[in-house]
Amino acid sequence: MSERTLSGVGATPLSGVGTVVWYRPGEALELDDPPEPDAVDPATERERFEAARDAARDELEAERERARERVGDEEAAIFDAHLQFLDDPQIGDAVGNELDGGLPAEHAVREGFAGPIEQFEGMEGRMAERADDLRDIRDRLLRLLVGGERTDLSALPEGSVVFAERLTPSDTAQLDPEVVSGFVTATGGRTSHAAIFARSLALPAVVGVGDDLFAVEEGTEVVVDGDTGDVVLDPSEETRAAAADTDRAEVRREPVATTDGKSVEVAANVGQPAELEGAVEQGADGIGLYRTEFLFLERESSPDEEEQYEAYVEALDAFPDGRVVVRTLDVGGDKPIPYLELPEEENPFLGERGIRRSLGVDADLFETQLRALLRAAADGAGDLAVMVPMVATVEEFEQARERLDSVAADLESEGIDGETPEFGLMIETPSAAFMADEFAARADFLSIGTNDLTQYVMAASRGNERVSELHDPQHPPVLRAIARTVEGAEGTDAWVGMCGEMAGDPDLTELLVGLGLDELSMSAVTIPEVKANVAETDRESAGELAARTLRASTKRDVERLLDDETAD
Ligand code: PEP
Ligand code: MG
Repeated sequence: MSERTLSGVGATPLSGVGTVVWYRPGEALELDDPPEPDAVDPATERERFEAARDAARDELEAERERARERVGDEEAAIFDAHLQFLDDPQIGDAVGNELDGGLPAEHAVREGFAGPIEQFEGMEGRMAERADDLRDIRDRLLRLLVGGERTDLSALPEGSVVFAERLTPSDTAQLDPEVVSGFVTATGGRTSHAAIFARSLALPAVVGVGDDLFAVEEGTEVVVDGDTGDVVLDPSEETRAAAADTDRAEVRREPVATTDGKSVEVAANVGQPAELEGAVEQGADGIGLYRTEFLFLERESSPDEEEQYEAYVEALDAFPDGRVVVRTLDVGGDKPIPYLELPEEENPFLGERGIRRSLGVDADLFETQLRALLRAAADGAGDLAVMVPMVATVEEFEQARERLDSVAADLESEGIDGETPEFGLMIETPSAAFMADEFAARADFLSIGTNDLTQYVMAASRGNERVSELHDPQHPPVLRAIARTVEGAEGTDAWVGMCGEMAGDPDLTELLVGLGLDELSMSAVTIPEVKANVAETDRESAGELAARTLRASTKRDVERLLDDETAD
């Protein structure tokens, strides 16, 4: 049989070869029409519902333990969120109303969950992913009520490639990377839960393939290319060999430099303590972005000073000879935290986000976080750097520094006197890029967040598939904003890094070095390849490539220039 290729979005730059195992948790859950209400005994149905809820709780607790062993405490916390949803009074009431109305338990569950799922689906970004969590719980209850079987994802045969419409957090947490060769889903994007898990498990994965996926039969041989997003069915010997042969670049534990001797720090982006180990294993020089909002997600209240302190010390101890850049809480936009009760905003990406909240409504949280950070800097092994997000004005940066200084003075009076950490900001707004020289004169470093910078420069939302062509940092205006930021720091002591997704694209390493970046920070899996590319880069030709690229007028021209370079 000749090979066929389906295309989706690559989630991890790894390839896998294996055999399709379909995971269809919803299949057994097609329900017939409900009987007439007077043929149903509400008391019995309520008991059935309660029994299913108890069984779901037992299952979730067991899965939480398994996830804890496999991927760590933080990922396992997703199950805490599921347990909370399971006992959520609002959802319980919605199901209860349906039961009172005379529906059998399974129909009551389906109807009772429909409203909350729809509500979450209407939201943006990570909040929309909560809809997946709710579907997961609903389907679990339905399976328990109608007795459907489901594939045990934690006990798959070696070499399985899991195909599914979607994989929920509890599904992905059960996959054992030692056994599973990868997964492919019909839905999802680069930032979906499934894709993020794939990266933390270093599992080849392609998401968002669409409905064509459903035509693929169980048992089909397949190559999953998480780099290109290709899913090759019935691959030829040649394709299989090429996939098996895409040896990953060797892990380099030492810092790297260009052929002409300029050091470029290659660091990891992490969101939770469980990812630190992977970052060390992949040879990260340090942490270039610690997204602390993950410490605040999937729970009912903020972590206190002590809990944060421990998380930050753990990060600093993981890199005793390196630098750990911790970004202060970046809440708002696509990163809502339910218990912080964010206001309804017409356009949350242009609203109260990041530093705007830390200097305003979340001032207390900011102080707690700064205290935890400065205490950790005094006790942890590595060097702490503190970074503030979403800065648009010089005043914001100066006010943030005043808060840091005041917390440092308080701690000193309590006898805690650590080294002053480096203090810098993310360049994520066009205003910060335009004012980079002013910021560089005041900061120890600038770190370019191309995910947000691209959305603000291009006026194209980062999570909206309809404008994904525009949300691409290879558009000339984004490249010019990056160049302007680097130029702004010339002649100052500030170093310039990049921690948006662009930094981890190995095809862009030469361009980024040519643009003059001192540090690149990315998902741990891409570190070996980017380090290898830095070590092969000659700064003079990289600089020429950057100069040519900055003269380009369209993204196509930029892509052509980069392709020519790879062809050389
Ligand atoms: C960015 O905006 O590029 C960035 C790294 O921050 P985040 O993706 O967490 O918004
Ligand atoms: Mg950002």
